[in-house]
Amino acid sequence: MGRVYNFSAGPAVLPEEVLKEAAAEMLDYKGTGMSVMEMSHRSPEFQQIIDEAEQDLRDLMKIPDNYKVLFLQGGASQQFAMIPMNLMKNRVADYIVTGQWAKKAYQEAQKYGKVNKIASSEDKTFSYIPDCSDLPVSPDADYVYICENNTIYGTKFKQLPNTKGKTLVADVSSCFLSEPVDVSKYGIIYGGVQKNIGPAGMVIVIIREDLITEDVLPGTPTMLTYKTHADAGSLYNTPNSYCIYICGKVFKWLKAMGGLEEMKRRNEEKAKILYDFLDQSSLFKGTVEPASRSLMNVPFVTGDKDLDAKFVKEAKAAGLVNLKGHRTVGGMRASIYNAMPKEGVEALVAFMKKFEEENA
Ligand SMILES: *Cc1c(COP(=O)(O)O)cnc(C)c1O
Repeated sequence: MGRVYNFSAGPAVLPEEVLKEAAAEMLDYKGTGMSVMEMSHRSPEFQQIIDEAEQDLRDLMKIPDNYKVLFLQGGASQQFAMIPMNLMKNRVADYIVTGQWAKKAYQEAQKYGKVNKIASSEDKTFSYIPDCSDLPVSPDADYVYICENNTIYGTKFKQLPNTKGKTLVADVSSCFLSEPVDVSKYGIIYGGVQKNIGPAGMVIVIIREDLITEDVLPGTPTMLTYKTHADAGSLYNTPNSYCIYICGKVFKWLKAMGGLEEMKRRNEEKAKILYDFLDQSSLFKGTVEPASRSLMNVPFVTGDKDLDAKFVKEAKAAGLVNLKGHRTVGGMRASIYNAMPKEGVEALVAFMKKFEEENA
């Protein structure tokens, strides 16, 4: 079987060019006689890989000099604890709960202090982003937390919340590098790379330098202190070296494509193809309020569970895979990340049209 169109939410599709390059370098990385997986993380070859990866990411996101870039393990989920352990000087934080991942972060933070849910969209199954222009931000909050793109529900913040001067912390796992961002508006931007960047097993944390201190909660492990990793250039211990290597290749791929402005244009174009179809379909319908729609994750349903299951099965047979919705939502979800070509979305819509006719 050849390559399929993989609509998985994560681990997810990677650029074919990157996979081919990695394959070509597998046995002998640039004359070293070994693969990157077999290489010391203290070698000059690897130092160059990690330095270039960081620089390319800085170029893509225009990351200001007073921010550090950390390549860490433990996934996005580990940040749910690491953030409060490092940032909760007053032991107070405000959370905006717009989905399962924000909720998990909110629940984890409760282990470390007083955590306020200052807005939520749970009343309508997280199908929208609440108005965050004038929220009751706590005067002593150490930070305000959001999940910027809700992978499971398919919503995205189109405007950042008004944090009333408090530090903004954002989980961008599923919209990382999908469009330009103004890094200076955030204290921390972080995300697991397995959604829109690279292989599973790593999280990238972009953190403003003043938030990196030794003044962390008592008992915070060395490995969960940002300062440990910032001081060591993400090489305090053995990092996920192969993942850093592949992410570095993806950064170069993004630069060659024209950077994040161009990715935004492409992502808007791709998402429009799918949303336009959903908006006029007699069988399928999107589950998200149009104003909150994600460019990356597009959930939709037929309204009939058996028909949904039939669709997922037949789509798979047609080479359109991983379209089953998250277990908590049901229906379908198409994740159309940076590496999903427009042709993949067009093939999906053509298949949906055909399915609609056959099942009218
Ligand atoms: C997938 C995901 C996570 C969890 O990532 P792990 O790396 O598995 O811990 C957290 N937040 C968001 C928005 C996600 O999409």
